[in-house]
Amino acid sequence: MQTHEIRKRFTDHFVKAGHTQVPSASLVLNDPNQLFVIAGMVPFVPYFLGQQTPPYDRATSIQKCVRTLDIEEVGITTRHNTFFQMAGNFSFGDYFKRDAIRFAWTLLTNPVEEGGFGFDPERLWSTVYLDDDEARDLWLEVGQVPERIQRRGMKDNYWSMGIPGPCGPCSEIFFDRGPEYGVEGGPEADEDRYIEIWNLVFMQNERGQGTGKESFEILGELPKKNIDTGMGVERVAFLLQGVDNVYDTDLLRPVIDRAQELTGQRYNAGDAEHDRLFRVIADHTRTAVMLIEDGVNPGNDGRGYVLRRLLRRVVRSARLLGATGETMGVFVDTVIATMTPSYPSLADDAKRIRTVATGEEQAFLKTLEQGTTLFGNAVDSTRSAGRTVLSGDDAFTLHDTYGFPIDLTLEMASEAGLSVDEDGFRALMTEQRQRAKDDANSRKSALADLSVFREFVDRGPTEFTGFDELVSDAQV
Ligand code: ATP
Ligand code: MG
Ligand code: MG
Ligand code: MG
Repeated sequence: MQTHEIRKRFTDHFVKAGHTQVPSASLVLNDPNQLFVIAGMVPFVPYFLGQQTPPYDRATSIQKCVRTLDIEEVGITTRHNTFFQMAGNFSFGDYFKRDAIRFAWTLLTNPVEEGGFGFDPERLWSTVYLDDDEARDLWLEVGQVPERIQRRGMKDNYWSMGIPGPCGPCSEIFFDRGPEYGVEGGPEADEDRYIEIWNLVFMQNERGQGTGKESFEILGELPKKNIDTGMGVERVAFLLQGVDNVYDTDLLRPVIDRAQELTGQRYNAGDAEHDRLFRVIADHTRTAVMLIEDGVNPGNDGRGYVLRRLLRRVVRSARLLGATGETMGVFVDTVIATMTPSYPSLADDAKRIRTVATGEEQAFLKTLEQGTTLFGNAVDSTRSAGRTVLSGDDAFTLHDTYGFPIDLTLEMASEAGLSVDEDGFRALMTEQRQRAKDDANSRKSALADLSVFREFVDRGPTEFTGFDELVSDAQV
């Protein structure tokens, strides 16, 4: 089942059950406290907080989401993307747990001929919050068996926005991929064998003050209880298309195929690091395309910096796989072709998106080229001094002035028969990072409130300084 078909079935199911279809909001909302929309409920927050009256009691949407927090998972787990589509159904003081559970269960288990996804109920697991017996009973009511219901704690199965306001237990649905993918024992034991598909949030209580997500006082029950759910469209595609990885689905695999042609390397040929690079290319190109579509341009801080970093990681990954020339245009065209059935406006905007992305690629390739000259000089002077170790100073200058990632320096040094004083490099990086942190703290960035974005916020509006501050050196 193709992804746009999954989207359609989801929407039809909920429209038939009386929900108003609401189009996806932009990834970028007019709110300095949020980098990007990270969940389907975000555009509805004013309704949940009671600040505005919704024009409907029940709604359904397929919201574009970007989670920068998941960037390090990309290409390593089978299930994380930085951009993904969250399909949701929402009740504003209308139906509650019973219907939320029933709607989800029927869509997942109804046969394909009847508009459902046709999942085998025996492979679906449900989780409930520790003391949420009501949800557990309702799962039994729809036909779930006690052996496949797990109770989980605050971290996994209790939702709040981290501030006083609505909160409540959640209940999640997982698909068991089978013993060849991991150990027995349900989602609590192995979240790569048991893939999380859908999160149902039951907003039933009001929380008071307290620090963070997990320690606060519950003031009492909300006068109007709400439902907020999120189903990962890409995850359902991954599970229904009979592939082993979200990157092998109709939306992402075509980019990997182009990357194989352009780099001359094979995907799934037994080299885990190569496979990761292929997936990074597919994931990040897609996220970049969707961000550019929503008005983000590459820059040195905030959203623009995230976009810049994604695009540069694509370029670096392609080079590490052996590409020598420009590849971005081909990747972008491929993403646009795969995503247009779901997002028709992409086709109209294709030229602009391509120009922005390839412009960044060209600038970065130039950076790499300039760095290569400096690198050559450093190698020459190292050799003529009779040394075999490139100094930490040189590695730092390459990084700091030319945005030259350390792994590239290491790789090229080894090709030139030299090693690199990594300790010296790291000491200089630590010094610089501390300086940047002191700066950022004194600047009080407008984005500083949401801890999930901290890694970007901490950087402040600094020059791009490569990749290794954000990901480990083993990665791009
Ligand atoms: P996980 O535990 O797998 O990281 P999550 O618990 O963080 O997922 P939720 O915040 O509950 O996810 O989001 C609701 C749904 O959105 C998930 O059940 C999943 O189907 C989907 N989803 C979440 N994060 C991603 C992602 N990075 N890529 C693709 N789909 C995602
Ligand atoms: Mg997650
Ligand atoms: Mg989870
Ligand atoms: Mg979840």
